[in-house]
Amino acid sequence: MSETRDIICVTCPMGCTMHVVVADGQVQEVTGQSCKRGIAFAREEVLSPHRMLTTTVTVRNGTLPLAPVRSRSPLPKALLLPAAAELRKIVLCAPVQQGQLVTANILGSGIDIIASRDIASSDAPQSAA
Ligand code: SF4
Repeated sequence: MSETRDIICVTCPMGCTMHVVVADGQVQEVTGQSCKRGIAFAREEVLSPHRMLTTTVTVRNGTLPLAPVRSRSPLPKALLLPAAAELRKIVLCAPVQQGQLVTANILGSGIDIIASRDIASSDAPQSAA
């Protein structure tokens, strides 16, 4: 039994809409792409979709209560919600530095989560304006 899906390639700004036929868990046909990169994108999107994870974690003693964090590379889509749940358990202590490791190898994915910006400590002296 086959199914069809329309997906938009986000590999480049052209944003081609592709029609994908899937049967027995395999991509049978891809149409609508303007280049072969669209075929690779369609295969990954259908068979093993990945997304960047961006969320926030709690910061203790910081000038802001939350720090934005992100995955170093895209995670399997199925891990996004469980990974976000894991990150809700983490509390960072300020100061936080952009690029700082928040947690390594989240859920055994091999992908690290890092801070996306600096968060100063609320105890740090404020600079004069
Ligand atoms: S199929 Fe090719 S041209 Fe179209 S969006 Fe993807 S990369 Fe760009």
